Amino acid sequence: MFARSKSLIGLRVRSLGSRIALVYVVLLAILMVATLFVANSSIAIFARENAEGDLGSNARVFDQIIASRQSQMANAGQVVARDFGFREAYATGDTDTLISALQSLRDRANVSEAAIVQLDGSVIGGDLDGTALLPRLENGKDRGVIRLGKDEALAAAVPIEMPDLAGWLILVSRLGPADVAQLSRLSAVPIEAHVVDRGDLAPHLAQLPLGKIGEVDDGNGERLVRVSPLASLQEGSEGRLVLTHSLEAAMARYTVLHVALMFISLFGMLAGAWAAIRISRGVAKPLQQLAEAARAYAAGAVSKVRVSGPSEVRSLAASFNAMVEAVEEREQQILHASLHDVLTGLPNRRFFIEKLDRAVQRQTASARTLVAFIDVDDFKTINDSMGHAIGDGVLCAVAQGLQDQFPDAMVARFGGDEFGLLLNGIEAGFDCTAIARSLEIVLNREMTVDERPVLVSSSIGIAIGPDDAANGDGLLNSADLALYRAKSDGKGGCHFFEPSLDAEASRRRRMEVDLRHAIRDGDFELYFQPLYSISEGRVKGFEALMRWHHREHGMISPATFIPIAEETGLIVPLGEWALREACRVAAQWPDGLSVAVNISPRQLGADGLASTVAQALAQSGLAAPRLELEITESVFIGNVEKTLRVLHTFQALGVRVALDDFGTGYSSLSYLRSFPFNKIKIDQSFVQALGDGGSAHAIIRAITTLADALGMETLAEGVETAELLELLRSEGCDMIQGYLISKPVPAAAVLNLLRSVHSADRKAVAG
Ligand code: C2E
Ligand code: CA
Ligand code: CA
Repeated sequence: MFARSKSLIGLRVRSLGSRIALVYVVLLAILMVATLFVANSSIAIFARENAEGDLGSNARVFDQIIASRQSQMANAGQVVARDFGFREAYATGDTDTLISALQSLRDRANVSEAAIVQLDGSVIGGDLDGTALLPRLENGKDRGVIRLGKDEALAAAVPIEMPDLAGWLILVSRLGPADVAQLSRLSAVPIEAHVVDRGDLAPHLAQLPLGKIGEVDDGNGERLVRVSPLASLQEGSEGRLVLTHSLEAAMARYTVLHVALMFISLFGMLAGAWAAIRISRGVAKPLQQLAEAARAYAAGAVSKVRVSGPSEVRSLAASFNAMVEAVEEREQQILHASLHDVLTGLPNRRFFIEKLDRAVQRQTASARTLVAFIDVDDFKTINDSMGHAIGDGVLCAVAQGLQDQFPDAMVARFGGDEFGLLLNGIEAGFDCTAIARSLEIVLNREMTVDERPVLVSSSIGIAIGPDDAANGDGLLNSADLALYRAKSDGKGGCHFFEPSLDAEASRRRRMEVDLRHAIRDGDFELYFQPLYSISEGRVKGFEALMRWHHREHGMISPATFIPIAEETGLIVPLGEWALREACRVAAQWPDGLSVAVNISPRQLGADGLASTVAQALAQSGLAAPRLELEITESVFIGNVEKTLRVLHTFQALGVRVALDDFGTGYSSLSYLRSFPFNKIKIDQSFVQALGDGGSAHAIIRAITTLADALGMETLAEGVETAELLELLRSEGCDMIQGYLISKPVPAAAVLNLLRSVHSADRKAVAG
């Protein structure tokens, strides 16, 4: 029980309010006890002084009482001593008359003894020791204390004069305990009086200075004592008046005051404790509220406190609220910054995905969600050729255009040149191709940036939920696949998602994995296709073309896997292998034969290609002029300067450089002027178009004429018929490549192929 209440107190004291209250109460109690102590001490001192005063004044009262008693006795005695009859009886020695007179005096004056002391010391009518009294009487003393038996007694002497002194009439009043007690009762305060002979005083009383108040404790409690001398009428006797006053009794008068003081203290303490608890609550309660608010705030709830209470608490509460506001504001800023793009001010990808997730949760067949994934075409070229400021301006213009055209949609920048558009609540019957058309119009146009016209185009992929995907991730992924398709279809296009894209994507993903394994396992082989000179009538070299012997699917065309290798970067190790392998194989061919190796843009962009080429030549022992590197125009998209630097390094190595697939890309003739290519390979799409008539003739003629002027060879790809060969010959083309001469063949078949081509030529020449 005790332990429990103790722990309960311990528990209570842990709170600030209880602690303040406890401190207050303890302080108050100490203060009260101290006050009480001081008050009690003061009362004790006061009471003692009072008692001493009482004792002093009572001593005087006793003296007066004694004096007046003695005068009374003397007066009564004088009346008798002057009486004629008495004097006559004394003179005649009439003892009977004297004794009866003394008897009646004793009764009248109410004294214990009345007697006559004669001049010779003999006594008539009493038991007194006359000789002991004589010396004092003869000295003229007439009042004092004498001994009467064992008691002390007051005595008054009146001379008997006839007319000469003939004796003394002595009146004696006994001071036995009862008499003294009677005297004591005359005092207002309980004071005990004793009259004792000096010789009978108790030792501790005998030591006290006469007439001074002293304190004794003889086992009956503390007492004030005053011992004073009484005049003596008898030789050998010295009377002492002893007055005692019990301190306890003196203090008793102040008991009420004590009790009152105790009550006042107790009341004061209780009132103080109550006030302390109130004050502590006044401080602790707002603090507790503040703590609760802080806890709620920490738990994520926006919580403010009421500004009330003492001023310090108020200002604390106000500061807390200000802090909550400031933190909230900063959180908002951080949130905004984390959810928006700095350049365009648009929401970022994260924000878009959050919004998309919410939209997708609400979508139904009659409230569909449309996601458009937008990629600005050739943004890198714009950036590189016109500067980053214009690049940024284009992005802002695209952002603005989208927002203006689709005010109800969420337009976000995903980063780089990618944007997203989110439209929700699209009704079942609504034709989304209208949205696609609007997008194409805003995104494919001439924009004015910094007062400069910039022709901008973008590719768009669109996916619509819930048909294309049931969740945000899926929908965005579908739009991405559609965008991928739009990109590969050409620039400025828009493509809607279709399930086959998904299948294609997973096929690509699988192929990527397979490709990694194939590189590790060396499942590739180079085939060689002859490059035939029309004017010289002979094979001047071979183009190395990669083949993949897939362990499950058999031979896979480079047209399929090269783009994937290019995207994933696997083309770098793969291309390096092709380069070394082509050099190794070609080094075994007759001196007049060269080998052409395809170099992808990704390879050209990677560092260290030039040294790989040099190593491949050195290791194989192939002479540099026998190696020809084929690059496509797309290498100029991006960093033109770097591309040119690499091409010049090739030239410095003595390697030949051919421009592949000419006519498919930008076909910018300016590239031809920027670098002295050794050969231009006209893309097979032009060559095949030759047969259909039309403008192909003119184009090929223009190319061959320009190439001639620039000192470059021309080669036509994909020549399958003798007619085409003749047409190309007449258009001034130098070389051809195609099934007409031969399909690509394995390395082992190259020499045989050479022989058969040349013998066929000889037959043709002979024929
Ligand atoms: P490309 O450089 O334009 O190579 C010529 C392609 O045309 C070869 O396809 C070849 O087989 C094909 N071809 C040749 N003559 C004819 C013809 O008369 N008619 C038709 N229809 N086609 C003809 P292939 O071998 O399938 O290669 C496709 C593409 O893959 C190549 O086009 C080239 O861009 C790329 N490629 C092949 N090997 C490599 C390589 O080692 N590295 C890199 N980076 N790319 C390679
Ligand atoms: Ca080629
Ligand atoms: Ca080509």
